[in-house]
Amino acid sequence: MSSNSIATLAKEFEITPGQVTSVLSELGVLFDGDEFVAEADELSIIKETLGEQRGQKVLVLAPGANVRDIAASLDKQPQDLIKDLLLKHKTPAQLTTSLAPEVAEKLAGGYGFSIKWQVAETKTEAPKKLIASTAAVKPISGAQHRPPVVTIMGHVDHGKTSLLDYIRKTRVVDKEHGGITQHIGAYQVELPEGKITFLDTPGHAAFTAMRARGAQVTDIAILVVAADDGLMPQTLEAIGHIKAAGVPMVIAINKIDKPSANPDKVMQMLMAQEVVVEAYGGQVGSVNVSALTGEGVPALLERILLEAELLDLKADPRGDFRGVVIEAKLDKGRGAVATILVQEGTLKISDSIVVGSAFGKIKAMTDYTGASIKEAGPSVPVEILGLNEVPGAGDKVEAAENEKVARAIGEQRATEARDKSLMTGKRKISLGDLRRQMDEEDVKNLNLIVKADVQGSVEAVRGLLEKVKNDEVEVKVIYAGVGQPSESDILLASAAGGIIVGFNVKADAKTKTEAERAKVEIRSYNVIYELIEDIEAAVKGMLAPKFEEHGLGTAEIRLVFKLTRAGFVAGSYVQEGMIKRGAECRVRRAGEIVYTGKIDSLKHIKQDVREMTAGQECGIQFENWTDFKEGDLVEAFEMVQIMD
Ligand code: GDP
Repeated sequence: MSSNSIATLAKEFEITPGQVTSVLSELGVLFDGDEFVAEADELSIIKETLGEQRGQKVLVLAPGANVRDIAASLDKQPQDLIKDLLLKHKTPAQLTTSLAPEVAEKLAGGYGFSIKWQVAETKTEAPKKLIASTAAVKPISGAQHRPPVVTIMGHVDHGKTSLLDYIRKTRVVDKEHGGITQHIGAYQVELPEGKITFLDTPGHAAFTAMRARGAQVTDIAILVVAADDGLMPQTLEAIGHIKAAGVPMVIAINKIDKPSANPDKVMQMLMAQEVVVEAYGGQVGSVNVSALTGEGVPALLERILLEAELLDLKADPRGDFRGVVIEAKLDKGRGAVATILVQEGTLKISDSIVVGSAFGKIKAMTDYTGASIKEAGPSVPVEILGLNEVPGAGDKVEAAENEKVARAIGEQRATEARDKSLMTGKRKISLGDLRRQMDEEDVKNLNLIVKADVQGSVEAVRGLLEKVKNDEVEVKVIYAGVGQPSESDILLASAAGGIIVGFNVKADAKTKTEAERAKVEIRSYNVIYELIEDIEAAVKGMLAPKFEEHGLGTAEIRLVFKLTRAGFVAGSYVQEGMIKRGAECRVRRAGEIVYTGKIDSLKHIKQDVREMTAGQECGIQFENWTDFKEGDLVEAFEMVQIMD
């Protein structure tokens, strides 16, 4: 295996980097930015193919190639091609417009390239090649019982984490790490009666985020209520979420070791929320527990298994694969790391998968104890490496026939997603210069693309930014995701006239160069409040400035005279306040305004002066106006910007 540079190969074979990438795509070799990894024999095939193109200006394209593909192959900006198409070829097009072969050939011809059309499979066919479909809810012949997937919810400090920790510590046998269990967002416990999968991200934020993405992951919810505290606001919210999801719940009345514990009161309070526990004649299971002493925990686990039995949860380990992302992050050393819950079928190492627009081949797979595993069946949470970018929590995971197909689908989705968010208008915005841009270009909203290290910070930054608003300027987060700012972020920012803000992530050198070329600003922060403050400041600057007239003084014109060099001068007497050179003024004649403009020069006995105050005589000249008469009244004022 060696790492290779696309740019170096392009130079070596005297072709464009775009030509190299299309050869790589054709051969199904994954690349990341300028780099790709290949075995020695793979590399020789690549070089052989490149050799065929040496010095030749030939683009290898799939039929139906769109503007973006062609731009990449030509190593040109898509915008330039779009302009060319419109002006030279009278063909209006967008990034994703597939060009008719003759148009594509003419376009490429304009840059001295000819096109060799690929006969093999095309990107547009790719989605049909998915082995697993997302709608895999069909009856499954080989279905077997699977462990229930459990989420713990409840008010803060009621003991969710303690309960999860207690269960993990006492029930998870660590195979590799001498008792230190890896945190991967989910774990499994094994009881004589069966297994349970716990999602280790307590709180309904994760639960709701997943549901918002259409992923119903949880089979059973545990509602933790502290016996000494009773039902609190987040308990009520959790009840709402659980009911809305139609998921059965088991109540864990926690902290019963405390002298002040009052489980009966909790049950009564629940009744008021129409959650009727068995002890009160209802259907909802309730177990008194202590996450501190462990009392009642075995009974809680048994109760969950009983509930699971009633649900008759089944999946076919040999069926089509389907899974969902529980959490994902960017790891400096390992790249995109995702915890996936297998929902259907079996996930194996080296499988090619697509997750939203992310794709890849599974390079490594570990279970919740940190042990390497080769495959994972239904309800098993695993951590995987090998995706090209960080997917979102709640994203569906699908299997693809091979890496090439995974890539084609991922890229197609990325393009679609990008085009969807593309907006009209192509202003280049800079944070420090917003005010001027607003004045000159009538910019009234600030489009932001947020990139951060983990999903949690993405949501936090987005949440705070969306609050930075006022009547005149709107802050819009047009895209937010995990990972370093990338080329596609730049494209989006450039198209939408936005800027990219990074939190705990920085653009690499290549992306920075790309950003400079596209005139897109990338700002990186490590302190969330600095980020917010900067945006707030920019937004304040963006406010259309408000001015108020501030009266300075009045003067009466008493004598009109002419100076040899300077021309007509209004000999005046300052009646009140002051008259200032450069000030705005109005001149009234018998009450009517005869002039509005500026005081151009102010003289006192032929000397230029800056200002004259009440009781003094002076000579006034106005900007572009000499038609003044004796008796005219000059009112001087200044426009003062008022702050909100
Ligand atoms: P979370 O916010 O719901 O995750 O709550 P934590 O698990 O962080 O617990 C909050 C506090 O309650 C911590 O100080 C725990 O030690 C304490 N705690 C949790 N469970 C119990 C319990 O069963 N008994 C007692 N006495 N304290 C508990």
